Amino acid sequence: MKKKMLFNGFDNKTLGILGGGQLGRMIGQSASRLGIKVIIMDPNKKSPAFQVANRSIVASFENKEKLRKFAKSCDVVTYEFENIPLNSLQYIAKFTKIYPGINPLKISQDRLLEKKFIKNLNIKVANFYPINNKQDLITNLSYLKGRGLLKTRKLGYDGKGQTYIQLNKQKNLQIPRIKKNDYIIEELINFNKEISVIVVREANGKSTCYEPSENIHREGILRETYFPARISVKSKEEAKKIAKKIAKKLDIIGLLAVEMFVCNNDKILVNEIAPRPHNSGHWTMDTCNISQFEALLRALFNAPMANLEYFSKCKMVNLLGDNYFTYKKFLNKKNYKLHLYGKEKLESKRKMGHINIIF
Ligand code: AMP
Repeated sequence: MKKKMLFNGFDNKTLGILGGGQLGRMIGQSASRLGIKVIIMDPNKKSPAFQVANRSIVASFENKEKLRKFAKSCDVVTYEFENIPLNSLQYIAKFTKIYPGINPLKISQDRLLEKKFIKNLNIKVANFYPINNKQDLITNLSYLKGRGLLKTRKLGYDGKGQTYIQLNKQKNLQIPRIKKNDYIIEELINFNKEISVIVVREANGKSTCYEPSENIHREGILRETYFPARISVKSKEEAKKIAKKIAKKLDIIGLLAVEMFVCNNDKILVNEIAPRPHNSGHWTMDTCNISQFEALLRALFNAPMANLEYFSKCKMVNLLGDNYFTYKKFLNKKNYKLHLYGKEKLESKRKMGHINIIF
């Protein structure tokens, strides 16, 4: 089953990235360090990743002519966020390789498909029900002790598209207008910790996991990540096993981030997956021999992975629009590693940068 893949160097290679946000930017920076040229495509002409690209293509992800030219110029294409039309990826695949793959994107774009897929692997997830109308919601809430999280199936991120709903207690129950196939309702999980695991999977099927990190969210947005996660060794091993199993079933070539809840008795539930580098893996940039971005590049270009080594512990703090300028206070601290994304517009809760505090 294992394919022997040939690595013929990073030299004279061109990587295409769909999406010009901070993840595209950091993939680009890592590629640049390895001498790989980068072409980035995004409809927003102010995309922060354009600042580090060899070439930028400002065009809609549905513009076939631009997609074709883009794809033909690249040895391999990847994506840095989930909301890219699948048709566009299928079109790109006619001209070049697209990794981590089309199916992983399809599954991760839709919370209902994602939850069903993971549950079918005998991995635990929060109980969930598809919701197609208000009556569905009321009926299914009764199976969830009257309360749950109503989540949009698609396009939700950073807590957007999520509403906490509690029957009976909310006098004027605020329910969004529900259209068919738009929502799921999810059981509210009383977890002890939120963690994530990033797994790198090579074309030959070999997968390597970063040790789990622990995530602190507020209002659905990641604020801080701690490495290592403060959970039992048993939970760590179980979390890595789960991440590898999902990556294998999705036949990932590249990275997969798996977000999980750790509950009482070390019970682990998977919340979400993302076939790309992840905010909760930014600590790897300053504490590891291979960052998550370089790991992705190695997988994309068939370069072998080395064993992962960790030089320090880390606390990663996201700089959002609200606390962005605090970074100026920390410039004299020798263990604060600053990463700013070069975004022009400061907005509340917008991810503007992060600091890796190493210790
Ligand atoms: P998500 O967009 O699904 O990643 O959710 C964002 C954050 O909301 C998660 O990181 C959790 O902190 C919280 N959350 C999501 N789903 C649940 C759930 N079923 N139970 C409790 N908290 C949740």
